Amino acid sequence: METVTEKFGSLVFDDRVMKANLSAKVYQSLKKTIDEGAQLDLSVANAVATAMKDWAIANGATHFTHWFQPLTGITAEKHDSFITPAPDGRVIMEFSGKELIKGEPDASSFPSGGLRATFEARGYTTWDPTSYAFIKEKTLCIPTAFCSFGGEALDKKTPLLRSMEALSKQAMRILKLFGNEDVKCVRTSVGPEQEYFLVDKAMYDKRKDLIYTGRTLFGAKAPKGQEMEDHYFGAIKERVAHFMADLNDELWKLGILAKTEHNEVAPAQHELAPIYTTTNIAADHNQLTMEIMQKVALKHGLVCLLHEKPFAGVNGSGKHNNWSMATDTGINLLSPGETPYENAQFLIFLCAVIKAVDDYQDLLRLSVATAGNDHRLGANEAPPAVVSIFLGDELTAILEAIESGKPYAGTKKTTLKLGVDVLPKFARDNTDRNRTSPFAFTGNKFEFRMLGSSNSISCANIMLNAAVAESLKIYADRLESAENFEQKLQEMIKKTIKDHKRILFNGNGYDDAWIAEAEKRGLKNYKTTPDCMPHLLDEKNVKMLTSHNIFTEAELKSRCEIMLDNYCKTVVIEANTMTDMARKQILPAIEEYLKTVCDTAVSKKAFIQDASCDYEKKTVIKLSVLMEQILSRTEELESELINLKVFSDIESESFAIRDKILPKMSELRAVADEAEMYTSSKYWPFPTYGELIFGVK
Ligand code: ADP
Ligand code: MG
Repeated sequence: METVTEKFGSLVFDDRVMKANLSAKVYQSLKKTIDEGAQLDLSVANAVATAMKDWAIANGATHFTHWFQPLTGITAEKHDSFITPAPDGRVIMEFSGKELIKGEPDASSFPSGGLRATFEARGYTTWDPTSYAFIKEKTLCIPTAFCSFGGEALDKKTPLLRSMEALSKQAMRILKLFGNEDVKCVRTSVGPEQEYFLVDKAMYDKRKDLIYTGRTLFGAKAPKGQEMEDHYFGAIKERVAHFMADLNDELWKLGILAKTEHNEVAPAQHELAPIYTTTNIAADHNQLTMEIMQKVALKHGLVCLLHEKPFAGVNGSGKHNNWSMATDTGINLLSPGETPYENAQFLIFLCAVIKAVDDYQDLLRLSVATAGNDHRLGANEAPPAVVSIFLGDELTAILEAIESGKPYAGTKKTTLKLGVDVLPKFARDNTDRNRTSPFAFTGNKFEFRMLGSSNSISCANIMLNAAVAESLKIYADRLESAENFEQKLQEMIKKTIKDHKRILFNGNGYDDAWIAEAEKRGLKNYKTTPDCMPHLLDEKNVKMLTSHNIFTEAELKSRCEIMLDNYCKTVVIEANTMTDMARKQILPAIEEYLKTVCDTAVSKKAFIQDASCDYEKKTVIKLSVLMEQILSRTEELESELINLKVFSDIESESFAIRDKILPKMSELRAVADEAEMYTSSKYWPFPTYGELIFGVK
């Protein structure tokens, strides 16, 4: 049996493998590319490709693929085998530097939002050497970016890498001013906590809604839900424990630092958290984690649901994006330091985040917007749709003291003078356990909690990095031209706190009073995807994102279009699934049950002339009325679906879907769920909520 340390990373072409399999010269040159983004010449690429191929074949691989993240949100691969015909009729296994660096998948079926004219269907993929290649199912997977022939990004990795570069560039300017000469770059790191549900595969197979849409579209509440709170951190059931052990194994082999797992609040809900790592690698790893979770679940007769809201009335699933910035020399820039200078530096980076989140609330909000996540954000659950920052009472008090120039009444009474006084040691605030803040400072990192469980973390981190890069740029511009650095610094920190304190909120984010207060403060409250997505193209946002070379205007337009299109398609599929289930399953099932009930009444009467047949009568009346309602609401939904055909622009269509289709879906669901309560479970055509969420033993 392999030990965990032996297993860990055994399917990854990582630094250890590179060192062992590459000549010193090739290794050095590759390392320079990885660390500093230096150009890689073809001879080096050829040597790396050969070593990669030999290692992959030795580990059972027969194929290779460029592995990338198109805008569909999932990963894509196109497998090629290493086989090349040899003149003697046999085959040899080949893989060239060219094949490693660049690929040309047929891109015509990936969404481009109009970026790629149909006559030019091809895009190309380019190797991201900063994320290690790995073996998955006998295939060597090479992490790549995906662009059109015109160079426009068609994926999520390209802008993420650009945003990391932009942040590093601006952060370096600030660090230089603070005299950090040895720092070569700044990297952002992320540790995403992933929530998911597990349900029994046999039950899943009986539910078209889960199969087609990933969530239940019908289902009366079970007699028991999450009210007892007996699932959270409760003992893990045996079948789930086996799944988790197997999952860890698979993730560890791929070098993914899966660390903690526990049950979540809702029954059947669980969480997995890896140890944090560089953002683009964390993004690759999170995509892999989601994929492998689903595969491993199947092996255990389970299905892993990554949808944000698989069950109404039960908590949904999110993803907490723990984010920080650190230098290549290992200094966490969000960690308060020991010396006055370090603290001033900490404060400027803290302020940069505060300013960024306030100035670009809209971008953060829309970076997590999907049809699925609309069921959580702003829908009385998880964080609200209003973006705000939790700093904790002590850090807030420190900032207030700086702003007002008054003594800080914390641990000791001192008037803080930046760059002169050491910040008082402040405790990590424990109230962050209330979990209601969408963006919480947790000691040395920020936790962005609005992401949906199925979101790619790339989108949120692109916007976060971009917005922080912009704050840092503004600061650096001012500081570089300042006559008195210390004075300017003080001024800027004070001004940031004054201008942006409206975004700071330490209270309960679920409270209705907060939503009213947030509105008074002028904070944005975009409840749904159609509300927020068009703001991607607001002038200030386009200006900021293009000025840092993170997106071109054309790329932004295409993304807005794709996201709205995705929203529309998702809801339309759900609506179609509902009408299908209502007509083909629910109505016939009730009909069949009613027939039994009526037959019974007739038989009863034959034996007992004055039998009351109360139960039969009431059931028939109740269900007959409900059947008529189910039918009429199905018809209404169907006609709304037909009405959608008139829209030619996606924005109007998305609003129509939100305002016409979604409400009709709720109306249909309400009567169907009521009918479920009156129908014998023997006749109900698919597993109930109770069976689904308590069905995994
Ligand atoms: P919780 O939110 O449940 O309290 P933890 O504090 O254990 O969880 O951390 C959650 C996640 O935050 C983990 O993935 C962890 O690796 C990550 N994390 C910890 N420190 C940092 C950091 N400096 N930067 C980014 N992520 C971090
Ligand atoms: Mg957390």
